[in-house]
Amino acid sequence: MENSLSNKQKIKTTRVCTLMITHACNLNCTYCFEKYKSSKKMTFEVAKNILKNEFKTYKGDIKSERLAIELFGGEPLTNFSLIKDIYEWTKSQALPFNYIFQITTNGTLLSSNIKQWLKERKDDFRIVMSVDGTEVMQQTNRGCKISDLPITFIKETWPNSYFKLTLSSETLHSYSNGIISLYEQGFKIASSLAEGQKWKENDDIVYRHELEKIAEYFLNHPEKDLEHPFNFLFKEYTDKRINEKIPHKNCGCGTTIAMYDIDGKLYPCHLFLPMVHGNKNILENIKNVDFTNTSTLIDKQCASCSILKVCKTCYGYNYSQRDNITSRDKGMCKLRLVEAQVISEFQIKYFTTINRELSDYELLMLKAALSCYKHLKNVSL
Ligand code: SF4
Ligand code: SF4
Repeated sequence: MENSLSNKQKIKTTRVCTLMITHACNLNCTYCFEKYKSSKKMTFEVAKNILKNEFKTYKGDIKSERLAIELFGGEPLTNFSLIKDIYEWTKSQALPFNYIFQITTNGTLLSSNIKQWLKERKDDFRIVMSVDGTEVMQQTNRGCKISDLPITFIKETWPNSYFKLTLSSETLHSYSNGIISLYEQGFKIASSLAEGQKWKENDDIVYRHELEKIAEYFLNHPEKDLEHPFNFLFKEYTDKRINEKIPHKNCGCGTTIAMYDIDGKLYPCHLFLPMVHGNKNILENIKNVDFTNTSTLIDKQCASCSILKVCKTCYGYNYSQRDNITSRDKGMCKLRLVEAQVISEFQIKYFTTINRELSDYELLMLKAALSCYKHLKNVSL
C-alpha cells in the first residue's frame, strides 16, 4: 500500500496500539511515572501475536484514517533489534489500511547507525522526543544535556515533528525563556505541565506570568505557527457543547488506546501498567470501570466545578496516586484555570489582530475562545 508522508499528514490516527517493548531506561527523569523499571523486554513472538490480533480487528477508513503502532518503554531504543524485527515483519504483511510507527524516545541512544536506519524509513516513522527547555531545565528534569540530543537530525528528517517540553515546579519559572529559545531555533514544541507532581503555593502566579510572556511572543511573531497549548481549541465551548455539563474525555485511555505490556497483557494505557504501580492487581481492580462513559469518571467535587470543561486529567495518575481514577489532582486546579484564562484571552487578541483571513478552523477557535473567556474571566479558585 502507498504510505507516503503527504498522505499521512492528511489522515487521522483513530487507534493507537502501543507495545511496551522494554522496561529498561538509561535515564531517571524527576517526573517519570515508571517507578518499577527493570531489564525485562518484549519478545518478537509476543509482539507478532499482539499485532496479528490488532491487524485483524482494525477497520480504519482507507482514505482518512490510520493505525499508529507505538513502540514504547522504558527507553524503546534499548530494544532496537525488536523495533527492526517488528518493522520488517509488519511491512511484509501488505496490510489493507494505513499505519504509522511511532517511537517515543529520550533521544540519548540515537546512534549514527540507528539514525541512518530511521532516515531510510522516515515516511513510516514518527519520532516523539522530549526537550525540556534550556540546558538547566533539561538537566534539572531529565539529567542529560540538550546539546547531546539529535534534535537537528529529527527536525531535518521530519520537519513537521514536534518536541515535548514537560514543566515541573522546579522549571516553571524558566518556561518562557526555555520555549522561546527553542522556537527561535525553529523547533516545534508542545508543552504541558507534568502530572503527578507536587506544585507549590504560588506556582499558578508564576505559570500565568510565563504564559503571558509566551503569548506576547506569538503576538509579536505572527509568522510563527502556534504550538500547544497556545493552539488549543476550547472545543467544549463550541456552540453544540455549550450547554453540556459533562465534557468529552480528554484522552483515549481504554477506548482508542490499547497498551500491551511486555507479556502481551492489555491495559487501558501506559499509566495502568504494573511497572508504574508495583505489584497492584490493576486489571482486577479496574475491571468495572467503563472508559466509554465519561460521566462515571468524574467525582462529585469536579462535577460541580466551574472549570470542569477546561480541566484535563490523567485517569492513570488519579489511580496511581489516589487509588481512584475519578480523583483528580486538586493541586493543579489553579494551574488549569490560569492556563485557560491566559490562552483564551491570547487567542482572542491573536485572531482579531492578525493581518490575514482566518481559516474556518481558526474562526472556530476564536469563537470557542470568546465563549471560554466569557465564562472563566471572573472565576477564581
Ligand atoms: S479544576 Fe479541580 S475541582 Fe475543577 S474539575 Fe479540575 S480537578 Fe476538579
Ligand atoms: S490516562 Fe493519562 S496517560 Fe493514560 S491516556 Fe489518559 S492522559 Fe494519557
